[in-house]
Amino acid sequence: MLVVGGGPAGRALAAACAARGLTTTLLDPAPQRPWRSTFAAWADELPPGLTPGVVAARATGRAVALTEHRLGWDYVVLDTGSLRAHLDDGMDRGGVRVVAGRAAALLSPHRVAVTGGDASSLSARVVVDAGGHRRPLGAGSWRPARTTAEQTAHGVVVPAAAAAPLVTPGEALFMDWRPDHGATGWPTFLYGVPLGDGTVLLEETSLARRPGLPLDELRTRLHARLHHHGITVPADARVERVRFPVDTPRHDHGAGAVLGFGAAAPLVHPATGFSVATSLTLAPRVAGVLAGALADGVAGAGAVSRAEREVLWTPAARAVHTLRRRGLEALLRMPPDAVPAFFDTFLALPARHRWAYLTARDDLGATLAAMTALFGRSGWTLRRRLVGPAVLPHAPALDPAPGTAPRSG
Ligand SMILES: Cc1cc2nc3c(=O)[nH]c(=O)nc-3n(C[C@H](O)[C@H](O)[C@H](O)COP(=O)(O)OP(=O)(O)OC[C@H]3O[C@@H](n4cnc5c(N)ncnc54)[C@H](O)[C@@H]3O)c2cc1C
Repeated sequence: MLVVGGGPAGRALAAACAARGLTTTLLDPAPQRPWRSTFAAWADELPPGLTPGVVAARATGRAVALTEHRLGWDYVVLDTGSLRAHLDDGMDRGGVRVVAGRAAALLSPHRVAVTGGDASSLSARVVVDAGGHRRPLGAGSWRPARTTAEQTAHGVVVPAAAAAPLVTPGEALFMDWRPDHGATGWPTFLYGVPLGDGTVLLEETSLARRPGLPLDELRTRLHARLHHHGITVPADARVERVRFPVDTPRHDHGAGAVLGFGAAAPLVHPATGFSVATSLTLAPRVAGVLAGALADGVAGAGAVSRAEREVLWTPAARAVHTLRRRGLEALLRMPPDAVPAFFDTFLALPARHRWAYLTARDDLGATLAAMTALFGRSGWTLRRRLVGPAVLPHAPALDPAPGTAPRSG
């Protein structure tokens, strides 16, 4: 096995493959570089078997749209260093070989050209692209045919006491759509989560926009919102910046010789941007199928398509993915002032429907039931906006600067 990319997805899959006795190499340009992002997930979405230290904080989920809602389940913020140590322990136990270098091209279904490291190429019976949303081994090193829809956010880390007007102890603010930033135009919300060390991350977030709302605009809104709530940001506050696509097409390398995994697959939920818990959960299942295929003498494209067919992209997972993408397009087309009302309707759904829409990546029935329930509770204007993307082309690209007017042409 050759796993390209040493993020959470690549390391989880490399460890899982090695645990099944597969000789595994992990390739990353800077395999020792620490991760900087704050990773969070729904508590019940995490796989069993993580060491307890991986969860830095656990809190009950709250959200504010037009009104306040309790999510009915817990949210966890991961200790990035502990998650990394947990996955690295797994890789060490299985004897994963870690190679520094950058995958430059696929020379054949079994050989990858490498630059910037000791090796000039690496060979394996199965090659995995876990290189994140840039997917270095995606078809033609994937260049988007259209402007991508991106999630962007600007966050600051403040002492929990300072954040208390917005995030009280023991809770996580999943989204707060109140326009307390005072800005008009593209809608953004506040995300606020405890980090487990007496601090709270407060992040002004644009869930999705094509292209992403500029980070400077989010920074301005964040500070205006916090000022509105009497929160002073220390001058030396740690800052987190977020920008990643939420509409990357499915990984495809011609004859399917490379398996896309993690954000490269993409396992990213377009409505939340989450992928880490899904990657951690699916890694052992993907490894199991690959090990079985290799034991059967099937390698390369055959093994990749077996893993896609049986785990990553079952017919139900493909259908759910398409429905979620339609939901994203509906959101991208929604007039700014309709967005909080849309989320109010969504957040008022019974918990089982919300949970299904947010997590059930291969349960088509549950996803359809959630969408039907949402439709049933919506007024006619919102209904038209929800079904429109089934017949309309993709939402047009907006001006890169803040605003909502579609570009002409
Ligand atoms: C600030 C921030 C916060 C986020 N918060 C969350 C969150 O709370 N929950 C959540 O689920 N998701 C979150 N995400 C989104 C997403 O899930 C993460 O980006 C996550 O890191 C994806 O994991 P991955 O392993 O698939 O890809 P990545 O973490 O992007 O890892 C890809 C790896 O591939 C390597 N690589 C790239 N090119 C090559 C190449 N040519 N050759 C070899 N290696 C290469 C990179 O160096 C990197 O190590 C967040 C994203 C950001 C930016």
